[in-house]
Amino acid sequence: MSELGTGRVMRTDVLVVGSGPGGALLAHLLARAGVDVVLAEKQSTLERSFRGETIAARSVLTLRELGFEDSLREHGFIEMTGIGQWERGRRVMHIDYRRFPIGAVPIDIPQPALIGAFLDASAEYANFTYLSPATLTGLVEEQGQVRGAVLRTGDERVQVRARLVVGADGRFSKTRKLSGLPADVQQMERDFLWFKLPRPHEWGHEGNLVALRDRHLVILPAFPDLLRVGYNLPKRGLADARAQGLEAFKAGIGEIAPQLADLVQEHITSWKDTSFLEIFTAQMQTWSRDGLLLVGDAAHTCTPILGQGVNLAIQDAVYFAPVVVRALREQQQAVPGRVFDEVVAERRAHKARVTRFQRLQEDALSRSSTAGTVLRRARLRTIDRLPFKYRMLDRLLNAPHDMSTEDRYARA
Ligand SMILES: Cc1cc2nc3c(=O)[nH]c(=O)nc-3n(C[C@H](O)[C@H](O)[C@H](O)COP(=O)(O)OP(=O)(O)OC[C@H]3O[C@@H](n4cnc5c(N)ncnc54)[C@H](O)[C@@H]3O)c2cc1C
Repeated sequence: MSELGTGRVMRTDVLVVGSGPGGALLAHLLARAGVDVVLAEKQSTLERSFRGETIAARSVLTLRELGFEDSLREHGFIEMTGIGQWERGRRVMHIDYRRFPIGAVPIDIPQPALIGAFLDASAEYANFTYLSPATLTGLVEEQGQVRGAVLRTGDERVQVRARLVVGADGRFSKTRKLSGLPADVQQMERDFLWFKLPRPHEWGHEGNLVALRDRHLVILPAFPDLLRVGYNLPKRGLADARAQGLEAFKAGIGEIAPQLADLVQEHITSWKDTSFLEIFTAQMQTWSRDGLLLVGDAAHTCTPILGQGVNLAIQDAVYFAPVVVRALREQQQAVPGRVFDEVVAERRAHKARVTRFQRLQEDALSRSSTAGTVLRRARLRTIDRLPFKYRMLDRLLNAPHDMSTEDRYARA
């Protein structure tokens, strides 16, 4: 598709579309390396209610290596101590995050604070431009190459010509749709409803997954003094839940986790206190073509299990930034898609590991028969007792392990 705007024309080296954790960090890293970069975001504020707030330990370490620790501490966050899985009032599996050798634990910090830290740090570079609100509506293509994009900012149409357009515009990515790159989108069997509650003082900083047959709740400590609760619904089950009424919904929560019953009764007063999340995964063989790259959820949407979406997006930014810088140095025109092949393969392998585990976990959690739930409990108890449990989980939860951020930059 080719769309040429009639409005203002801007020129830059890289246009990053979407200021989520992936796009905002990538734009920052490029600006820091001296690249002329425009970051376009369709929302006019940073407020993002019910978005990924848990940052896995690997990315906590990465952000520390990149110098963001002080600004994140200034805002404040919660250090998660571990996560337990509960069935019939008993803990059948527990992971103590402090026992991993990685030297960091997952943290919970609202996305506006995280993205705000990236934007503040970028603002000091004259070669960084933040366009907001600015919505991508079309790609500019010439001779089979992407040469820029058309953005709507208020009533104006701006054509941004760039040597590389990076689609970091999330799970419903317009850039992905316009790119023509094939994506395998798979609906998961269930969707999720999220809500927040005040966190009782004695609750601590542990996450909990509480399962009752084929229903479960994910209960996570959220900054500053909240619980973030996810409740699974059958696919497109929101209409049914609403038809049954709020009181039935609240009773269902209390049945799975009686300790939440009073809190839910008091603090969930309308469906507006909840947020619906359609669960699907998207996988792509190729994330790039000449003049275009996709990162984060735009390239690889995953489910909320394990809280890996922000981690994957942050690691994408860190892995791709040096490749972009080198390609811009070496190429005069549009950045060829093939320069990203090696890193795409590395990143796909990381995402594939996460998806494999998420599918296993989703399969286990959707068991409703007595035999199925007995087997699930037995498996979890067995894993819990394995002497190499932490070594095994370290590979999954704290990936990627291959090299530090500094080494990755040095290699480029
Ligand atoms: C309810 C919920 C809970 C979650 N919990 C967790 C969690 O605890 N931990 C975790 O790791 N992950 C979690 N995730 C997933 C996580 O939020 C995402 O994986 C992560 O934010 C992906 O980052 P991203 O930068 O790729 O995209 P996003 O964060 O989705 O950012 C995309 C940005 O692009 C902008 N945009 C979209 N379209 C356009 C356009 N046409 N033009 C310009 N801008 C555009 C959007 O406004 C947005 O700011 C959760 C997701 C949801 C919805």
